[in-house]
Formats: sequence, C-alpha cells, structure tokens
Amino acid sequence: MSRASIIDGKAFAENLTRKMAEEVASIRETYGLVPGLAVVLVGDDPASQVYVRNKARQTEAVGMRSFEHRLPSETSQKDLLDLIGQLNKNPVVHGILVQLPLPRHLDSASVIDSIDPAKDVDGFHVTNVGRLNAGLPSLIPCTPKGCLMLLKNHLGNLSGKHAVIIGRSNIVGKPMSALLLREHCTVTVVHSRTHDVASECRRADILVAAVGQSEFVRGDWIKPGATVIDVGINRVATTDGSTRLVGDVNLREAQEIAGAITPVPGGVGPMTIACLLQNTLEAALCQIGVNR
Ligand code: NDP
Repeated sequence: MSRASIIDGKAFAENLTRKMAEEVASIRETYGLVPGLAVVLVGDDPASQVYVRNKARQTEAVGMRSFEHRLPSETSQKDLLDLIGQLNKNPVVHGILVQLPLPRHLDSASVIDSIDPAKDVDGFHVTNVGRLNAGLPSLIPCTPKGCLMLLKNHLGNLSGKHAVIIGRSNIVGKPMSALLLREHCTVTVVHSRTHDVASECRRADILVAAVGQSEFVRGDWIKPGATVIDVGINRVATTDGSTRLVGDVNLREAQEIAGAITPVPGGVGPMTIACLLQNTLEAALCQIGVNR
C-alpha cells in the first residue's frame, strides 16, 4: 500500500482567507459594510490569550473589524452578560465569540445563550444547534465546518460513505455528526463508553478523531484507503525537553494504511479560524438582509 496523501489544511485555509479578503473588499464597496467580530476573553489563561490574539490578527488581515474585550478573571456573571447585551445591540458588531473555557464561577451555558443567535459565530447557541439538527440554515460550529470543507474538497460527494466520529462533544463530535448526516453519510459516533472503539473505526470510510488524547488512533484501526481527519491538538514533551503538537491519530502508522490524512499541525487547526471569519462574513451579510 502506498503512503497516504496529506490533506493540507493550512494551504486550503490560506486560499479561503485570500478569497475572503477579496469578498470583504467587494462587500465594503457595494454595501458600505465592514464585518465586525467581537471576541470576549475572561481571565488570563495563556493558551486562550494566544487564540484571541491570532483571531484578532487574522480578522484584521482580511479587512474586517476586530473588537477585543479582555475582562479580569473575577468578572461577575452579571457584568459579562451586560457586556454581551451591549454587543448584541451594537450594529458594527456582527459576530460575538466568548473564548472558552470560562473561569469556573461563570455559567458558560447561560453566557452562550445570552448571545444573539444571529451573531453567534461559534454556532453554539441552542437556536443554531437546533437549526443545524433540523436541517435548517444556521451558523455552523467552526471546527466541524472546516473538517467538512476538507472532506468535500478531497472526496467530492460523501453520500453513502460510512463515517465514524470519535468524540461526542458539543464543539466537535455532535455537530460533525449532524453535518455528515446532512451529506448522506451513515454516521457512527463512538465515545468513552463504546465497547470496542477500534472495531468501529475499522469500518470507517471517513474517520474523524476528536478525542483529546495524543496518538489515540493506531494504524491498525484504520480501514485501508480511508480518509482520516485528525481534530486533536495535544502538546507532548520531547526527549530534548521541549514540546511539540501531536494529533489524536498516530500519523506515522496511519500514513501506511489510510488513503489520505490531515496532519497536526497544519490540518484542521488553520481551518477553524478561517471558518470563524467566514461565519462572521455570513452573519454580517445576513444582518443587512443580503443572501449570497
Ligand atoms: P472533549 O474532551 O470535549 O471530548 C472528547 C470526546 O472524546 C468525548 O466525547 C469523550 O467521550 C471521547 N473520549 C474520551 N476518551 C475516549 C475513549 N477512550 N474512547 C472513545 N472516546 C473517548 O474534547 P473536544 O471535542 O473539545 O476536543 C477534542 C480534541 O480536538 C482535543 O484534542 C482538542 O484540543 C481538539 N480541538 C481542536 C480544534 C481545532 O481547531 N483543531 C478545535 C476544538 C478542539 P465521553 O463523551 O463519553 O466523555
């Protein structure tokens, strides 16, 4: 068996972002609209700070407006909800993202539910979750949206394929299963209570791994020729004392048997931010009544 081809999410995302920058410029010209994304960060978690900085940089790079709201970790639920209320009303803010996880004293579910669903660019509000599952147009969570784009670009029509998703989180696994069902896949979702995860995986034409455990999926769990999407981002120590990022799939083993695979880094990760920008653009157009 020849080695799997690498699905280059980084290049795909860069191309998407380049096209988006052109679209943003043309929308500004035609409608006088500059899409705006507000990102709210509570506390000083270092990883979240990096994500927020990257999101702001990339938002501005495509010509959109970025609004950063950094609040101290002791911020009260009421103050956070008040800020979201103001952003909901602000006409230059078209998308609102609250960086998760929030400090433990804050109730994430009610914070997410306080965001106007039309501005919920993460697609986590129950209205958007419900609409996605009902097959209605909605804002779609960025990571599974990016995975689907890569799959469709690589495989074309997904109809009839057997997709196995490892993980059932609200952020990745569940919306991924709704999206693949919408594409007429036969979908199996496995999780920590599944009896034999490896045998379920061996039946997959499409395998999406979103477990959060480094190199969890071994080469002999993969059906020959399958397309593997590795969502995992795990930082592991190296022998020289530094760290490196690895996915939820053992890439070296998987490459010997899969047909194609997304690498970590450079696979799904870059697609997530590109899809966030795309959701912001879609939300902005929808808010001025333009359907494209
Ligand atoms: P969660 O921790 O929320 O969910 C993990 C899922 O894996 C759960 O459903 C859990 O099952 C399941 N699981 C855990 N152990 C096993 C096991 N032994 N066998 C089968 N299933 C198991 O993680 P997320 O969905 O938020 O993220 C998953 C990974 O994706 C992480 O590495 C994260 O960093 C990464 N990620 C990457 C993004 C990107 O942009 N590339 C964006 C978001 C996440 P159960 O429900 O039963 O507990």
